[in-house]
Amino acid sequence: ARKPQSPAAAAAARAEVPPRPGLPVVAIVGRPNVGKSTLVNRIIGRREAIVEERPGVTRDRKEVEAEWNGRAFTLVDTGGWLARGSELDEKVSRQSEQAIASADAILLVVDATTGATEDDDRVARILRGATAPVLVVANKVDGESREHLVWDLLRLGLGDPHPVSALHGRGTGDLLDAVVDALPDEVDDAPGDGPGTDGPPVADADGAVAVAIVGRPNVGKSTLFNRLIGEERAVVHDLAGTTRDSVDTVVETDAGPLRFVDTAGMRRRARTSEGAEYYSLVRALQSVDTADVALLVIDATEGITHQDQRLAERVDAAGCPVVLLLNKWERLDAEARKHVTDDVARRLAFVGEAPVLKISALTGKGVDRLLPTLAGTISQYRRRVPTRRVNEVIGAAQAAQPAPHGARVLYATQGATDPPTFTLFTNKDLAPTYLRYLERTLRDAFDLHQTAVKIRVRRRS
Ligand code: GDP
Ligand code: GDP
Repeated sequence: ARKPQSPAAAAAARAEVPPRPGLPVVAIVGRPNVGKSTLVNRIIGRREAIVEERPGVTRDRKEVEAEWNGRAFTLVDTGGWLARGSELDEKVSRQSEQAIASADAILLVVDATTGATEDDDRVARILRGATAPVLVVANKVDGESREHLVWDLLRLGLGDPHPVSALHGRGTGDLLDAVVDALPDEVDDAPGDGPGTDGPPVADADGAVAVAIVGRPNVGKSTLFNRLIGEERAVVHDLAGTTRDSVDTVVETDAGPLRFVDTAGMRRRARTSEGAEYYSLVRALQSVDTADVALLVIDATEGITHQDQRLAERVDAAGCPVVLLLNKWERLDAEARKHVTDDVARRLAFVGEAPVLKISALTGKGVDRLLPTLAGTISQYRRRVPTRRVNEVIGAAQAAQPAPHGARVLYATQGATDPPTFTLFTNKDLAPTYLRYLERTLRDAFDLHQTAVKIRVRRRS
């Protein structure tokens, strides 16, 4: 008879048979001996993989079916990752790479008691480019007294670590909640559907930057798009997009490949009325969720409308950096130009220091500045600042202007990019005005004016 199973083992019996095809795949990676097999066993609620006290014992890539809260997924234990070494190690690493490429979510298991090693850093660097969401599992946190060890793992740059003890089951329920959250939304019969919008921004495997062109109907999106394609005179190819029925266009530019998101309606010159509706607000908003940067096109002859404002708010809320394009600029006289410029400052103040370009998509005037501006914005969006520098800047800011009531940032780190996200560990709550002061300081110090910046505060008590 089977032993009583862990709560996570609802599908333990089914795990005896090979996983069903079509399930989302969760890959477990990490260097040998961090506890990957133990974690797999914990999740599926049985002991099958060999666990030994020796590094690198579990060699074979194992696939089992698991389930949590009614959500079934395939768990792939990659059997370890060594970036260099013997032939066997290389084979294992290749298997890990394959698993990563095909995964819907990735668990990077790290031994919290030893902290992040060079090997962990190397793997993390690779994972930062992965399309699938990555969760850092801080394993061997067997008790409260080891909780503080997870801090060191923030420097892997993959977000907040999840402390667990695979051996004792501590924290594994919370981890599985997060795993299920990170999986793409369940699809009925459309395997081509993209990841859910909850995951981190989609970064192309080939490094292409995803650009969404958004704006109300008739502001000039298609005209601009066709001009960009025409002027680049470059390899242009269509690609299945990340949302249902969408088509993306990849354009090779001097600034690297750009993937214009959801461009089906824009390639056609003469569009039907259905085509005009195609880029409705909803559609535009979807494209923003899969983009690294948005071009918000505004018809300058109409000023900043309420709908422009709403779109800008939504783009901003998605954490997507934005470049504002005041189009049809050639039609405005001097007075109108001044009026629109004031309007941007007044009505779109919340997009902060987003670049504003005055262009004519029709004549091409000003369009040449678009690509360099985009490149600058993207590099800020992806900027990574070493932890040491973050702490120096925060330290200096606090010395120059201490927070009221003895509140202090004890330690700070950039936990994520896209957009730059800073985590501040504090002894007390910080006043909102003081947080804004710190944010401003960070933006100034690291030249982060054109991108959203997120600040997270963790109270350490
Ligand atoms: P893998 O080779 O990376 O998959 O690691 P294993 O699962 O084989 O575990 C390596 C060693 O770490 C074994 O001796 C495990 O018993 C031990 N281990 C795994 N998880 C934990 C944990 O949560 N706490 C402690 N203290 N030890 C663990
Ligand atoms: P979309 O609905 O946002 O894709 O807008 P279109 O690209 O179809 O453009 C709508 C209309 O605006 C068309 O008649 C374009 O020729 C015109 N248009 C686009 N850009 C400009 C511009 O820079 N100046 C002027 N005067 N007209 C433009």
